[in-house]
Amino acid sequence: MKPAVDLHYSRHAMPAQCLVGIAILLAGYLLVDLVPWFVPTAQGADGRYTGKQGEIIIVKVPVDDSATRVQGKFLGRAVSFFPDTRLEEPKGFVGLLGIDLQDEPGTHELLVELKTAEQSRMLRYSIAVVKGKFHMEHLTLPKDKVDLDEKSLARWKAEQEQVKEALATDSQSKLWQPGFVEPVSGKRTGIFGSMRVMNGQARNPHNGEDIGAPLGTAVAATNHGVVRLTVDHIFSGKGVFLDHGLGFYSMYFHLSEVLVKEGEQVKAGQIVGKVGATGRATGPHLHWGVKLNGARVNPYALLDLPFKGTVQSAAPVPSGDPTSSVGAPAP
Ligand SMILES: [Zn+2]
Repeated sequence: MKPAVDLHYSRHAMPAQCLVGIAILLAGYLLVDLVPWFVPTAQGADGRYTGKQGEIIIVKVPVDDSATRVQGKFLGRAVSFFPDTRLEEPKGFVGLLGIDLQDEPGTHELLVELKTAEQSRMLRYSIAVVKGKFHMEHLTLPKDKVDLDEKSLARWKAEQEQVKEALATDSQSKLWQPGFVEPVSGKRTGIFGSMRVMNGQARNPHNGEDIGAPLGTAVAATNHGVVRLTVDHIFSGKGVFLDHGLGFYSMYFHLSEVLVKEGEQVKAGQIVGKVGATGRATGPHLHWGVKLNGARVNPYALLDLPFKGTVQSAAPVPSGDPTSSVGAPAP
């Protein structure tokens, strides 16, 4: 039996970005600029990081407490940094750099602006994006299953706009803590990033992971956050968007029931809904998605992050702390 999946929709094929890719590739050979008080560590010590499409890279900026703001930019997307409170790690700031599943493979630059009371300077990191291995699926379906009629198309567009608006402003403080929870432990379909070609038309790649589980199975929040949006959309069905702060969101779709309200604060592991097959789904499953600073990343990358366990040292930034503005999105 085929695992239950959803049939997401897109009218647009992806444009080729080869020239941009080549230009950035060349730029990647420029020397990296490292601060004098840089403490060498194994990963990224030479200012270089490598990651696959859909992965999350932990970028460490080893600055002391004098830093008042650390903010990065990668492929036009803001990357927020926050103080590294992991006990076993040297002092500094860390940023979660999401590599979008369609970021062009090659070397790209991560620019990090570092501000202290006395000075401001730019650090340049070289990020090598490696092509991820995603499935390609060709499907031939009855036309009415693939193409939306005018009314549905208008609805779909309005829903896209609603999501965009709801996630447009990132929360300024980091709400999550070490220790990510798998929302449902079920059968993973492993189709994150898979590309579908329906009746010869390229669709957007699958931007999350589908987890098969019986109807009504409890769906848990992967971490602390605020319910940014609850929906009942044509493709996603009943869904919950959680805001974990600093441009990090998790999504839970096709629910049979939503058990939280917009604006509500949730704890890691709190039940936000129940597994269903609402929207376009071939059977009960959870579509779990994560957006990190605008990049669509594999949600399971969260469970692999070196922010594990129930270490509570990453306490919320006390009010009045200058670092609380660290996540300010770039204009
Ligand atoms: Zn899905």
